[in-house]
Amino acid sequence: MKYNRILLKLSGEALMGKQQYGIDAERLMQYAEEVRAVAELGVQVAVVIGGGNIFRGVQAEAFGLDRVQGDYMGMLATVINSMALQSALEKLGTPTRLLSGLTIQRVCEPYIRRRAMRHLEKGRVVIFGAGIGSPYFTTDSAASLRAIEVEADVVLKGTRVDGIYTADPEKDPTATRYPQITFDEVMEKNLNVMDMTAFTLCKENNLPIIVFDMNKEGNLQKLLRGEAVGTLVTMNGTEPNLDPKHSGLQPDLHHSSPASSGQQA
Ligand code: UDP
Repeated sequence: MKYNRILLKLSGEALMGKQQYGIDAERLMQYAEEVRAVAELGVQVAVVIGGGNIFRGVQAEAFGLDRVQGDYMGMLATVINSMALQSALEKLGTPTRLLSGLTIQRVCEPYIRRRAMRHLEKGRVVIFGAGIGSPYFTTDSAASLRAIEVEADVVLKGTRVDGIYTADPEKDPTATRYPQITFDEVMEKNLNVMDMTAFTLCKENNLPIIVFDMNKEGNLQKLLRGEAVGTLVTMNGTEPNLDPKHSGLQPDLHHSSPASSGQQA
Protein backbone atom coordinates (compact mmCIF):
# COMPACT_ATOMS: atom_id res chain seq x y z
CA MET A 1 0.00 0.00 0.00
CA LYS A 2 1.25 3.42 -0.91
CA TYR A 3 0.38 5.05 2.40
CA ASN A 4 0.41 3.26 5.71
CA ARG A 5 -1.35 5.71 7.96
CA ILE A 6 -4.01 7.94 6.48
CA LEU A 7 -6.35 10.63 7.69
CA LEU A 8 -9.55 10.49 5.72
CA LYS A 9 -11.69 13.62 5.77
CA LEU A 10 -15.33 13.15 4.86
CA SER A 11 -17.74 16.04 4.63
CA GLY A 12 -20.97 15.87 6.55
CA GLU A 13 -22.80 17.12 3.50
CA ALA A 14 -21.74 14.06 1.52
CA LEU A 15 -23.47 11.87 4.11
CA MET A 16 -26.82 13.32 3.04
CA GLY A 17 -26.68 11.46 -0.24
CA LYS A 18 -29.73 12.60 -2.20
CA GLN A 19 -31.49 13.84 0.92
CA GLN A 20 -31.77 17.49 1.93
CA TYR A 21 -30.74 16.91 5.53
CA GLY A 22 -29.30 14.29 7.85
CA ILE A 23 -27.80 10.91 7.10
CA ASP A 24 -28.51 8.72 4.10
CA ALA A 25 -28.22 5.09 5.24
CA GLU A 26 -26.99 3.85 1.88
CA ARG A 27 -24.23 6.48 1.63
CA LEU A 28 -23.20 5.79 5.22
CA MET A 29 -22.84 2.06 4.57
CA GLN A 30 -20.97 2.77 1.33
CA TYR A 31 -18.41 4.91 3.17
CA ALA A 32 -18.11 2.32 5.94
CA GLU A 33 -17.50 -0.37 3.34
CA GLU A 34 -14.75 1.67 1.64
CA VAL A 35 -13.05 2.24 4.99
CA ARG A 36 -13.41 -1.41 6.02
CA ALA A 37 -11.79 -2.57 2.78
CA VAL A 38 -8.63 -0.49 3.22
CA ALA A 39 -8.37 -1.15 6.95
CA GLU A 40 -8.44 -4.88 6.21
CA LEU A 41 -5.57 -4.41 3.80
CA GLY A 42 -3.49 -3.19 6.75
CA VAL A 43 -3.75 0.57 6.26
CA GLN A 44 -4.05 2.47 9.53
CA VAL A 45 -7.10 4.66 9.13
CA ALA A 46 -8.11 7.78 11.02
CA VAL A 47 -11.29 9.57 9.99
CA VAL A 48 -12.57 13.09 10.53
CA ILE A 49 -16.14 13.69 9.53
CA GLY A 50 -17.88 17.04 9.13
CA GLY A 51 -21.27 18.10 10.37
CA GLY A 52 -22.64 20.21 7.54
CA ASN A 53 -25.53 17.80 6.93
CA ILE A 54 -26.87 18.69 10.37
CA PHE A 55 -25.58 22.07 11.50
CA ARG A 56 -22.88 24.63 10.75
CA GLY A 57 -21.84 27.46 13.06
CA VAL A 58 -22.49 30.13 10.42
CA GLN A 59 -26.16 29.08 10.34
CA ALA A 60 -26.53 30.25 13.94
CA GLU A 61 -25.35 33.72 12.94
CA ALA A 62 -27.87 33.74 10.11
CA PHE A 63 -30.61 32.98 12.66
CA GLY A 64 -29.35 35.86 14.81
CA LEU A 65 -27.96 33.44 17.38
CA ASP A 66 -24.57 33.34 19.01
CA ARG A 67 -21.80 32.13 16.67
CA VAL A 68 -19.83 30.31 19.35
CA GLN A 69 -22.95 28.46 20.47
CA GLY A 70 -23.54 27.57 16.81
CA ASP A 71 -20.02 26.24 16.44
CA TYR A 72 -20.49 23.96 19.44
CA MET A 73 -23.75 22.79 17.87
CA GLY A 74 -21.78 22.07 14.69
CA MET A 75 -19.20 20.12 16.68
CA LEU A 76 -21.97 18.05 18.26
CA ALA A 77 -23.31 17.41 14.76
CA THR A 78 -19.94 15.90 13.84
CA VAL A 79 -20.21 13.61 16.87
CA ILE A 80 -23.60 12.37 15.63
CA ASN A 81 -22.08 11.61 12.22
CA SER A 82 -19.05 10.00 13.83
CA MET A 83 -21.29 7.75 15.95
CA ALA A 84 -23.20 6.74 12.84
CA LEU A 85 -19.99 5.86 11.00
CA GLN A 86 -18.66 3.98 14.01
CA SER A 87 -21.81 1.94 14.20
CA ALA A 88 -21.78 1.24 10.46
CA LEU A 89 -18.16 0.07 10.65
CA GLU A 90 -18.89 -2.15 13.62
CA LYS A 91 -21.77 -3.68 11.71
CA LEU A 92 -19.18 -4.70 9.12
CA GLY A 93 -16.96 -6.17 11.83
CA THR A 94 -14.33 -3.41 11.78
CA PRO A 95 -12.98 -2.42 15.20
CA THR A 96 -13.25 1.33 15.77
CA ARG A 97 -12.75 3.93 18.45
CA LEU A 98 -14.42 7.31 18.56
CA LEU A 99 -12.28 10.01 20.15
CA SER A 100 -13.92 13.35 20.72
CA GLY A 101 -12.49 16.85 21.00
CA LEU A 102 -15.35 17.62 23.40
CA THR A 103 -15.75 15.41 26.44
CA ILE A 104 -18.91 13.33 26.12
CA GLN A 105 -17.89 10.40 28.25
CA ARG A 106 -21.01 8.26 27.92
CA VAL A 107 -20.54 7.87 24.18
CA CYS A 108 -16.89 8.35 23.31
CA GLU A 109 -13.37 8.58 24.61
CA PRO A 110 -11.81 12.00 25.02
CA TYR A 111 -9.16 12.78 22.43
CA ILE A 112 -5.76 11.81 23.80
CA ARG A 113 -3.03 11.70 21.20
CA ARG A 114 -1.18 8.73 22.66
CA ARG A 115 -4.41 6.75 22.81
CA ALA A 116 -5.17 7.60 19.21
CA MET A 117 -1.72 6.42 18.14
CA ARG A 118 -2.08 3.20 20.10
CA HIS A 119 -5.49 2.46 18.58
CA LEU A 120 -4.07 3.01 15.11
CA GLU A 121 -1.12 0.71 15.79
CA LYS A 122 -3.60 -1.93 16.91
CA GLY A 123 -5.43 -1.66 13.61
CA ARG A 124 -8.54 0.06 14.93
CA VAL A 125 -10.19 2.68 12.78
CA VAL A 126 -10.00 5.89 14.78
CA ILE A 127 -12.76 8.44 14.27
CA PHE A 128 -12.09 11.94 15.54
CA GLY A 129 -15.35 13.64 16.53
CA ALA A 130 -16.12 17.24 17.54
CA GLY A 131 -13.43 18.74 15.32
CA ILE A 132 -10.65 20.18 17.40
CA GLY A 133 -13.11 21.04 20.15
CA SER A 134 -12.88 24.82 19.69
CA PRO A 135 -15.18 27.26 17.93
CA TYR A 136 -14.15 29.22 14.81
CA PHE A 137 -12.51 26.16 13.29
CA THR A 138 -13.71 23.69 10.69
CA THR A 139 -13.43 19.96 10.41
CA ASP A 140 -10.88 20.49 7.60
CA SER A 141 -8.65 22.16 10.20
CA ALA A 142 -9.33 19.28 12.56
CA ALA A 143 -8.33 16.85 9.81
CA SER A 144 -5.03 18.66 9.19
CA LEU A 145 -4.22 19.05 12.86
CA ARG A 146 -5.05 15.48 13.87
CA ALA A 147 -3.17 14.13 10.84
CA ILE A 148 -0.05 16.03 11.91
CA GLU A 149 -0.46 14.97 15.52
CA VAL A 150 -0.83 11.26 14.77
CA GLU A 151 1.86 11.44 12.06
CA ALA A 152 -0.37 10.37 9.21
CA ASP A 153 1.34 10.08 5.83
CA VAL A 154 -1.35 12.02 4.01
CA VAL A 155 -4.71 13.76 4.35
CA LEU A 156 -7.24 12.28 1.95
CA LYS A 157 -10.02 14.72 1.33
CA GLY A 158 -12.97 12.74 0.03
CA THR A 159 -15.29 14.95 -2.00
CA ARG A 160 -17.80 14.56 -4.81
CA VAL A 161 -15.33 15.78 -7.46
CA ASP A 162 -12.33 13.77 -8.55
CA GLY A 163 -9.66 16.31 -7.71
CA ILE A 164 -8.61 19.94 -8.01
CA TYR A 165 -9.62 21.68 -11.24
CA THR A 166 -8.49 24.84 -13.01
CA ALA A 167 -12.04 26.14 -12.36
CA ASP A 168 -15.19 24.76 -10.77
CA PRO A 169 -15.98 21.73 -13.01
CA GLU A 170 -19.66 21.89 -12.00
CA LYS A 171 -19.87 25.40 -13.51
CA ASP A 172 -17.15 25.50 -16.18
CA PRO A 173 -17.10 22.60 -18.71
CA THR A 174 -13.62 23.61 -19.97
CA ALA A 175 -12.08 23.09 -16.51
CA THR A 176 -9.29 20.51 -16.39
CA ARG A 177 -8.00 18.48 -13.47
CA TYR A 178 -4.49 18.78 -12.02
CA PRO A 179 -3.00 15.34 -11.34
CA GLN A 180 -0.43 16.99 -9.04
CA ILE A 181 0.06 20.53 -7.82
CA THR A 182 2.18 22.39 -5.27
CA PHE A 183 0.92 24.14 -2.14
CA ASP A 184 2.22 27.44 -3.58
CA GLU A 185 0.36 27.00 -6.87
CA VAL A 186 -2.88 26.31 -5.04
CA MET A 187 -2.43 29.57 -3.14
CA GLU A 188 -1.30 31.61 -6.17
CA LYS A 189 -4.23 30.40 -8.26
CA ASN A 190 -6.61 30.79 -5.35
CA LEU A 191 -7.92 27.24 -5.82
CA ASN A 192 -10.41 25.92 -3.33
CA VAL A 193 -8.94 22.87 -1.58
CA MET A 194 -9.55 23.48 2.12
CA ASP A 195 -10.02 26.57 4.23
CA MET A 196 -6.83 28.57 4.68
CA THR A 197 -6.16 27.50 8.28
CA ALA A 198 -6.38 23.83 7.35
CA PHE A 199 -4.36 24.27 4.18
CA THR A 200 -1.60 26.30 5.86
CA LEU A 201 -1.24 23.68 8.58
CA CYS A 202 -0.57 21.05 5.91
CA LYS A 203 1.79 23.31 4.00
CA GLU A 204 3.83 24.31 7.04
CA ASN A 205 4.14 20.72 8.16
CA ASN A 206 4.83 19.30 4.72
CA LEU A 207 1.80 17.04 4.92
CA PRO A 208 0.55 15.94 1.48
CA ILE A 209 -3.14 16.27 0.65
CA ILE A 210 -5.04 14.23 -1.91
CA VAL A 211 -8.43 15.47 -3.08
CA PHE A 212 -10.43 12.64 -4.60
CA ASP A 213 -13.95 11.43 -5.36
CA MET A 214 -15.09 9.39 -2.38
CA ASN A 215 -18.43 8.56 -3.95
CA LYS A 216 -16.88 6.43 -6.68
CA GLU A 217 -16.88 2.83 -5.54
CA GLY A 218 -13.42 1.42 -4.79
CA ASN A 219 -11.68 4.77 -5.31
CA LEU A 220 -10.13 4.88 -1.86
CA GLN A 221 -8.60 1.47 -2.34
CA LYS A 222 -7.34 2.35 -5.84
CA LEU A 223 -5.69 5.46 -4.46
CA LEU A 224 -3.95 3.48 -1.74
CA ARG A 225 -2.80 0.88 -4.25
CA GLY A 226 -0.98 3.69 -6.04
CA GLU A 227 -3.33 4.32 -8.96
CA ALA A 228 -3.58 7.89 -10.23
CA VAL A 229 -6.72 8.99 -8.44
CA GLY A 230 -7.56 12.61 -7.60
CA THR A 231 -5.09 15.46 -7.20
CA LEU A 232 -1.99 15.25 -5.03
CA VAL A 233 -0.84 18.47 -3.32
CA THR A 234 2.76 18.52 -2.09
CA MET A 235 5.56 20.98 -1.50
CA ASN A 236 7.21 20.44 -4.88
CA GLY A 237 4.38 18.83 -6.84
CA THR A 238 5.95 15.37 -6.82
CA GLU A 239 5.33 12.17 -4.89
CA PRO A 240 6.24 12.50 -1.21
CA ASN A 241 9.16 10.65 0.34
CA LEU A 242 7.54 8.70 3.09
CA ASP A 243 9.24 8.48 6.42
CA PRO A 244 9.15 4.78 7.40
CA LYS A 245 8.74 5.47 11.15
CA HIS A 246 5.12 4.37 11.21
CA SER A 247 4.98 2.61 7.90
CA GLY A 248 4.72 -0.89 9.26
CA LEU A 249 8.20 -1.54 7.85
CA GLN A 250 9.60 -1.64 11.34
CA PRO A 251 8.58 -4.88 13.04
CA ASP A 252 9.43 -3.48 16.47
CA LEU A 253 7.16 -0.46 16.11
CA HIS A 254 5.16 -1.37 19.18
CA HIS A 255 8.27 -1.37 21.33
CA SER A 256 9.91 1.73 19.93
CA SER A 257 7.02 4.14 19.63
CA PRO A 258 6.58 6.59 22.50
CA ALA A 259 2.85 6.24 21.92
CA SER A 260 3.05 2.66 23.12
CA SER A 261 4.13 3.75 26.56
CA GLY A 262 0.88 5.68 27.02
CA GLN A 263 -2.37 4.45 28.39
CA GLN A 264 -3.36 1.06 27.13
CA ALA A 265 -6.85 0.73 25.80
N1 UDP B 1 -16.72 23.25 14.11
C1 UDP B 1 -16.02 24.04 15.04
N2 UDP B 1 -14.75 23.65 15.37
C2 UDP B 1 -14.13 22.56 14.83
C3 UDP B 1 -14.84 21.81 13.87
C4 UDP B 1 -16.13 22.17 13.54
O1 UDP B 1 -16.53 25.03 15.53
O2 UDP B 1 -12.98 22.27 15.19
C5 UDP B 1 -18.13 23.58 13.81
C6 UDP B 1 -18.30 24.70 12.79
O3 UDP B 1 -19.40 25.48 13.18
C7 UDP B 1 -18.63 23.94 11.53
C8 UDP B 1 -19.41 22.75 12.03
O4 UDP B 1 -18.78 22.43 13.27
O5 UDP B 1 -19.40 24.71 10.64
C9 UDP B 1 -19.46 21.54 11.14
O6 UDP B 1 -18.21 21.26 10.57
P1 UDP B 1 -17.86 21.56 9.03
O7 UDP B 1 -18.58 22.77 8.57
O8 UDP B 1 -16.38 21.56 8.91
O9 UDP B 1 -18.48 20.30 8.34
P2 UDP B 1 -18.48 19.86 6.77
O10 UDP B 1 -18.52 21.13 5.96
O11 UDP B 1 -17.22 19.09 6.52
O12 UDP B 1 -19.70 19.02 6.65
